[in-house]
Amino acid sequence: MVSKTNIRKKKVSTNWEYSAAPESTDHISLKSNYDLFIAGKFTKPKEGTYFNSINPANETNIAKVASAGKADVNKAVSAAKVAYENVWKKMDPSQRGKYIYRIARLIQERVREFAVIESLDGGKPIRESRDIDIPLAAAHFFYYAGWADKLDYAFPGRKTKPIGVAGQIIPWNFPLLMAAWKIAPALASGNTVVLKPAETTPLTALKLAEIIQDADLPPGVVNIVTGDGSTGKYLVDHPKVDKIAFTGSTEVGKSIIQALAGSSKKYTLELGGKAANIIFEDAPIDQAVEGIINSIFFNQGHVCCAGSRLYVQESVSKEIISKLKSRMENLILGDPLDKNTDIGAINSKTQLEKIQMYLDIGVDEGSTIYQSTCTIPKKGYWCAPTLFTDMSQSHRLVQEEIFGPVLVIQTFRTIDEVIAKANNTPYGLSGGVWTDKGSKIFKISKDIRAGVIWGNTFNKFDPTSPFGGYKESGMGREGGLEGLLQYVNLY
Ligand code: NAP
Ligand code: MG
Repeated sequence: MVSKTNIRKKKVSTNWEYSAAPESTDHISLKSNYDLFIAGKFTKPKEGTYFNSINPANETNIAKVASAGKADVNKAVSAAKVAYENVWKKMDPSQRGKYIYRIARLIQERVREFAVIESLDGGKPIRESRDIDIPLAAAHFFYYAGWADKLDYAFPGRKTKPIGVAGQIIPWNFPLLMAAWKIAPALASGNTVVLKPAETTPLTALKLAEIIQDADLPPGVVNIVTGDGSTGKYLVDHPKVDKIAFTGSTEVGKSIIQALAGSSKKYTLELGGKAANIIFEDAPIDQAVEGIINSIFFNQGHVCCAGSRLYVQESVSKEIISKLKSRMENLILGDPLDKNTDIGAINSKTQLEKIQMYLDIGVDEGSTIYQSTCTIPKKGYWCAPTLFTDMSQSHRLVQEEIFGPVLVIQTFRTIDEVIAKANNTPYGLSGGVWTDKGSKIFKISKDIRAGVIWGNTFNKFDPTSPFGGYKESGMGREGGLEGLLQYVNLY
């Protein structure tokens, strides 16, 4: 029996209420303290500093995590260099592939545990961590494991050489998945790695370190240094790092390019986005509305490629906005571990404050705000799904990345007008188009400068498809053969 108090109360009585269906936490194993993972061993930080990783849904501390200083980063890079020179680059590629397959299988066996830890540490709904983050992370290891012994066929007529030590810095929105996107192609092509997870979500990377131990990967091939932005900066500046792979904000990405200028380090940057989602009057309207809801409220809008700008053809705008509002009312916000939850917790207090700042700016700039009336839990960091209308292209909410469950809506009359508006931001990561006409999908995907345009769907990922941005959304690609190319020198 479910206690009455666990049943979410909503202010709108017309909604059906579901009994709570929380995923159990009995099966997970977490230590109270995590050290740095260097040369195959958990190692205490030299300065003895630790920080708390908290659960953003209730503000409790989950574990203490080591903060890596300069000396620790040096140690990790040296371990990666030794492993690269003495072991990994010399190893028969098919043997390297076996280790990567082993990591993939071990993740797959522990999907449930990893999903729960991802949701506890980052606030995302368990449905997403269970069905998307962790299975896709395993899929990336499987995919790149397959390339390890086929590198001679990957780029016809060319052979590959690894680059060396890759310093990899990742954000908090898809913690294990971003680690997989970076580690799997690097290892498959013969490089070794020092990974810096985000400060607010380090736990699944540290659990991955346990898997790496279980897989018997030679010491030093993967090293994990937790800490804040300064740990990332030590890695960027380190003279023995041969390549930097960074996913995060455009602001930090720009500072990394400046730091690397004049050095011989290679780099790839996956940065921010402000995707346009476009609905034409001939689109299947209900399907499009569901797609829009998924594209922006999925993972609390903590998605670089989120469909954060919506352009609706004028003739259907009233119908679509009304349907969006009614669907928003039915979204369930609350406990990330509950299988009914659609919208989990905002990742951190800082991120919530940033979203709140943008809501205030939107209102100050004269736009009309609409928020669903869901009940906000008393503890933790939450933001009700929000949309803004009465916007123009010059509004800050149309131009800047919010990284929260906030949709800004404008209308358009012609295809040329909407293409001009969609292209009018500094970003170019992704976009979407909803229409009955294939010709419109082709035109939009050709004329909008974005790394991916989805047609009558959104947020679909696959390890074989390259992903990345134009303009201030970054340079280089991750995923597929293009992702592998970023970790090799061709000759
Ligand atoms: P962020 O603040 O740029 O941080 C990203 C990572 O860089 C974190 O590990 C961060 O450490 C570290 N870092 C901070 N300052 C640094 C510095 N000066 N040098 C080196 N490393 C530094 O971004 P975020 O807030 O975590 O993530 C959100 C952003 O990521 C959004 O803009 C989003 O669009 C983007 N993103 C892009 C993609 C893509 O594929 N294009 C995918 C996901 C996310 P701390 O955690 O300690 O600050
Ligand atoms: Mg956390």
